[in-house]
Amino acid sequence: MSGDVALTGIVTTDIAAVTRGRFVDSDKFDSSIAGGVGWLQANLSLTPFNVIADPNPWGSSGDLRLLPDPGARYRTSRTGSETPFDMVAGNLVELDGSPWSCCTRTLLANALADLKAATGLSLKVAFEHEFQLLDTGLPREHVLSFAGLRRADGFAAQIMSALEEAGVDPEVIISEYGEDQFEVTCSPVDGLAAADRAVVLREIIREVSRNRGWKASFAPKTAPSSVGNGVHIHFSLINADGQNATYDPSRPSGLSKAAGSFCAGVIKHLPALTALTASSVSSYYRLKPHSWSSSYTWLGDKDREATLRICPTVTIAGRDPARSFNIEYRAADATANPYLALAAIVRAGLAGLEGDIPCPPIHSGDPADLTDEQRMERGLLRLPETLADALGALKQNSVVSSWFSPIFLETFMGMKDFEMKSLEGLDQQTICERYRAVY
Ligand code: GLU
Ligand code: MG
Repeated sequence: MSGDVALTGIVTTDIAAVTRGRFVDSDKFDSSIAGGVGWLQANLSLTPFNVIADPNPWGSSGDLRLLPDPGARYRTSRTGSETPFDMVAGNLVELDGSPWSCCTRTLLANALADLKAATGLSLKVAFEHEFQLLDTGLPREHVLSFAGLRRADGFAAQIMSALEEAGVDPEVIISEYGEDQFEVTCSPVDGLAAADRAVVLREIIREVSRNRGWKASFAPKTAPSSVGNGVHIHFSLINADGQNATYDPSRPSGLSKAAGSFCAGVIKHLPALTALTASSVSSYYRLKPHSWSSSYTWLGDKDREATLRICPTVTIAGRDPARSFNIEYRAADATANPYLALAAIVRAGLAGLEGDIPCPPIHSGDPADLTDEQRMERGLLRLPETLADALGALKQNSVVSSWFSPIFLETFMGMKDFEMKSLEGLDQQTICERYRAVY
């Protein structure tokens, strides 16, 4: 090891879903807990292409502190790097320690706390990631196959081993349907920890891949014709007794009244939410009908085309179906900040619960087979088809906008406008290449 010094990264994840941070000597980490490390507001205006949006609300002045959350420390020495992977998620605060209104991790913590205060419910969440290895030169094998995983011998096992040691609690790794595509699922955990784990999982997979000379890409589309890489956000509502309050076998599709209202809030605000869960230009090449991603404001029972999918329950060997019952939000990808994406889902669900909105129609079948009128009756609207449209929907939705401070929205919109401008005139292939190089 380099002079026996190991470094601990104190990190924050920005609007571009890039995890950035500062490193301290791991032996001295404890002394950084109270006061954190320095940070600055303008970093939040960084585009995924590493240029600060111009104009932005922040300019060159201003200082913050990035305070590590010692309960969110993830360590492993199994990534194949010279020194251990050691990451601590932090919260951005003002210099006096008060929360910064634009810290995405704090936005999620507040949304979860408000859900709990208003309804007594908390959320168990698991982020399911798909990614592709680029230009490995590995032999092609059948998709979803045994050989598909084994051909990259050691890679999949190393990922699982590193995630396990870091405390991410991975469940399954598969060779997925796309070219050199893999998927990792994790066990469910409290909402904030789930978003922390999403950040850690991406960085560990990137690091393990880099150490093998490969690039792992989580871009929603690595090429216009490629299979999409989704981030599917699974969630269930948990009551004060620790029971799964999402499940009620006496109701349609087993969805409890509370979960129905939660889903109704999400479906109602979906067009605006997509800007926060599918946040890049290329995200909208993925959100198309017949690609098992999602493309309508659609709550579906065990249907992978639906945006909210009621997942199957397992009753083998007398297992309690309530244990595994959960809803999956499929209109997300890794260009969206996981804290922000989940915060938006929680806020929308809470709005549904507070408004006591009835469960939306649970639609089965292909929306494309319906007439416009039938789709209207079932509340099936096409999701925004471009990032510009999604941002427009967010701007127009005063309820969703009210969940964020005006300065946060200004930063978000300004950065995204700048990102779109920097891609103007490029064809889809080139745009996919730009994103796959940075995600
Ligand atoms: N790759 C699909 C997506 O873009 C998901 C396939 C699946 O259902 O796992 O979301
Ligand atoms: Mg999958």
